[in-house]
Amino acid sequence: MKTETNGNPEKGICSSCGLCSIQEWPMHESVRSCVFKNGWLGKREKKLFERERKLDNPEEMRFGITLERFLAQLKKPLNGAQWSGIITAIARAAFESGLVEGVVTLHRNDKSTFFSDPVLAMTAEEIDASKGNKPVLSPVLRSLQEAVRKKLKSILVIGAACHIHTLRDFQERFPYLQQMDIYTVGIPCVDNVHRNRFNWILERMSKSPATACHMEFMPDFRIHIRHTTGALEKIPFFSLPEELSNPDIFPQACMACFDYLNCLADITVGYLAAPFRRDGKKQWVLVRTAKGSRLLDLVEDQLERYPEEGEWECRDAVLKNTDQIIAGMKEQKAAYSSKRKMPVWAGHMLAWVLGRKGPKGIGFAHYSVDFHLIRHYYYVKYRCPEQLTLLVPRHVRSIIQEYGLPL
Ligand SMILES: Cc1cc2nc3c(=O)[nH]c(=O)nc-3n(C[C@H](O)[C@H](O)[C@H](O)COP(=O)(O)OP(=O)(O)OC[C@H]3O[C@@H](n4cnc5c(N)ncnc54)[C@H](O)[C@@H]3O)c2cc1C
Ligand code: SF4
Ligand code: SF4
Repeated sequence: MKTETNGNPEKGICSSCGLCSIQEWPMHESVRSCVFKNGWLGKREKKLFERERKLDNPEEMRFGITLERFLAQLKKPLNGAQWSGIITAIARAAFESGLVEGVVTLHRNDKSTFFSDPVLAMTAEEIDASKGNKPVLSPVLRSLQEAVRKKLKSILVIGAACHIHTLRDFQERFPYLQQMDIYTVGIPCVDNVHRNRFNWILERMSKSPATACHMEFMPDFRIHIRHTTGALEKIPFFSLPEELSNPDIFPQACMACFDYLNCLADITVGYLAAPFRRDGKKQWVLVRTAKGSRLLDLVEDQLERYPEEGEWECRDAVLKNTDQIIAGMKEQKAAYSSKRKMPVWAGHMLAWVLGRKGPKGIGFAHYSVDFHLIRHYYYVKYRCPEQLTLLVPRHVRSIIQEYGLPL
């Protein structure tokens, strides 16, 4: 399969993280630090934690090395945040306490609420305006250029795993950021899309793409799309048109991504293991490093904490899909139908049944991590096999073997 290079063959697989757009140093140095040139986790994880994750610890294998994990919610949720707004609260506290001088993150693009513009936020208002998801590949790291030009000594970077991997490698390998004290907050990230594909996908998901303003893949097995009218549209995953299962509509980078939970961030803030409740805003916090603890301390008094919940076991749910995944990656179908995989009413029934009987809480996170690791392993194996050794971290092979699947 042809590698997507975003117009530049030097790059290879690329998630448009933004580092290569910086003009302060030669582009080939940015490319040298690219996660798609160095592979996921492995040596990077060892450098950060002085060890790799343990292969005999099922939770650490999936969720990465942590100091603590818990559920939490801001006592006063922030309007316009993706969930309760813990990430924005951390960014704001880090800035207002003087821990960092600026925050490298994203603003919404003027023309589309779903698209992003990289920003170096240096006021409380600019930090507040970075709230909420931009569900497209986003060049977060481009704003490092401004931070370097302004000679900032300390920054916070909020990013997906591809941003954080590449940033950590670059800071260590080259001199340009070595004097900067960098804190990192990670979002879990999966199934991201190219900006130029986004509207095509939205049109196939929503009855009213023009009014859609907020979207999330939810643990109730439905996509929730909020509209400017106030309406909330729910589409069961199982009722999406078949053409949205085509792996070729996703960026090659995201199909070759093996760090859903952003395991090199100082702290990861998501929602994956928070049991789904109507209008609930509980989030999942994974503190990984001493710097992550320091960031957490800054917002501790704003948080309501809860223990993780749910049963760990999800083997049967994962195995239900694996034959289909392997065949789908192997076959490379010529055409995908625009028909729904099942009627919406039937999809809602299945989502309802799984919502009661399927994995929940920590079990749902286990299921979702394994599902995506397995899908991505077979994507790389069949569609870019020359990258298999470089990209796939060792715990993925252990997980594949745990399910008795072929390597
Ligand atoms: C494509 C995508 C898929 C995701 N999938 C999952 C998932 O499966 N499970 C899960 O637990 N969480 C997932 N998340 C993260 C989740 O939606 C929330 O961002 C997270 O829980 C933080 O919520 P919050 O209310 O604290 O965020 P907020 O306080 O609203 O802050 C969100 C921060 O994330 C930044 N951000 C938004 N979009 C991007 C982007 N594309 N790249 C880099 N930074 C960005 C914002 O600029 C902001 O700084 C995903 C996010 C994205 C963008
Ligand atoms: S992902 Fe980032 S570092 Fe890698 S090639 Fe693309 S822009 Fe450059
Ligand atoms: S899915 Fe992976 S490669 Fe794609 S944007 Fe998210 S972290 Fe980056």
